[in-house]
Amino acid sequence: MTIPQGRSVRSELIGFERTKKIADPAIEPVRGKVGQCRLCGKRSLLTSSHVLPRAVGNSGPWFAHSYTTFLGGHQNNFTRRRFPNGIEFFTTCSDCNNSIGSLEDKSVLEFYQTIEGVLNSPLRLPPTLIIKTKLNRLYRAIIFHLSTANDKSPDAALDNVAKKLRLNELHITKARLYFFAWPYIGDKHVIVRDFAWTNMKDHYGGYAHVLKLAPLGFAVGDTPKFKGMTSLNPYLTATDDEYVEIPFDLFRKESDDAWPAVPSDWEAILRGDSMGMISQRN
Ligand SMILES: [Zn+2]
Repeated sequence: MTIPQGRSVRSELIGFERTKKIADPAIEPVRGKVGQCRLCGKRSLLTSSHVLPRAVGNSGPWFAHSYTTFLGGHQNNFTRRRFPNGIEFFTTCSDCNNSIGSLEDKSVLEFYQTIEGVLNSPLRLPPTLIIKTKLNRLYRAIIFHLSTANDKSPDAALDNVAKKLRLNELHITKARLYFFAWPYIGDKHVIVRDFAWTNMKDHYGGYAHVLKLAPLGFAVGDTPKFKGMTSLNPYLTATDDEYVEIPFDLFRKESDDAWPAVPSDWEAILRGDSMGMISQRN
């Protein structure tokens, strides 16, 4: 008679364990507002850095799961990280924050407005459009934002480049990182930092970081061609505030949350130990 009772208690315990959610250790927020600025390294009161700026649609409540939790379909095991006022990280000093806000983020906003106009146009558009932009500023912005989107993990190679760019120890044309931009029409906010891939058939590989907020996706990586895209690096200029005309491919209107950080044929994707997350609007 005692055996069935024992079983019943045990199964209840297992049921309880299964429904009890824990914080996802990969993206659990760090408490405390004083620390080292991720961009200049100064110990300082840390200020909110929106990734990307509020003006391009990164406002209001979002909730997030880590990239690996999301891809593995384990969302039910972990609590969500909540972002009540847009995706933001307290990782930069006010000097860095103000500088990026007044220089780089203006180019991000301008680029978003141009692409939104293009994608909402009732006209039949060619597969590639020529877009005018301050490319150096835009590219610096994406590197800075990818670097500040991390309050949890150690530096990746990109973070060292971001620091040197911010401290003017390196010019963007010498960064040896390649920049990609494409139309992204998905509804999630995606940050995938520091993943490497290897192709077992053609024996090539590389690493990249991805940032997506509709209607744009961006990637920064160490190879000039990435998943069928060609980098915009040849259009970078000697001075950062110069407008240039860049080709922008419209034929890939991508809505997949995880692309390009998922394996395709003959490929394996390896995650670095740096944070990544996928967020949905609340
Ligand atoms: Zn700083």
